[in-house]
Amino acid sequence: MRPGLYGAMLRGFFRRCPRCGTGAMFTRFVTVNSACPSCGLELHHQRADDAPPYFTILIVGHIVVPLLLMLEQRAAPPTWVHMVVWLPVILLLSLWLLPRIKGALIGLQWHAGMHGFGGHPD
Ligand SMILES: [Zn+2]
Repeated sequence: MRPGLYGAMLRGFFRRCPRCGTGAMFTRFVTVNSACPSCGLELHHQRADDAPPYFTILIVGHIVVPLLLMLEQRAAPPTWVHMVVWLPVILLLSLWLLPRIKGALIGLQWHAGMHGFGGHPD
């Protein structure tokens, strides 16, 4: 059964094929499979481009900046504490989110039939 928009995006978020939900979307960190190993859906039509890093920066910034400001207002720690706390948080959160956001965006593109997913050339 074909999933709805949110179902396709959720499957992509979990780095699975948006159509079947079982095949792996990526061969490596953010390298997209040319086709789903489970159902054969051609994934090479995706054009996520710069959107995943854009949304990753947007989300990570909206999580980290308020927390950083709260820590600064309540404890006013020295700068090195901020560096030790926030740099790993930013790095790990970004690395965790980037492939998931890319997968969700590819799920959105597939559901909307964008960029050749709809059966017509891009
Ligand atoms: Zn599939």
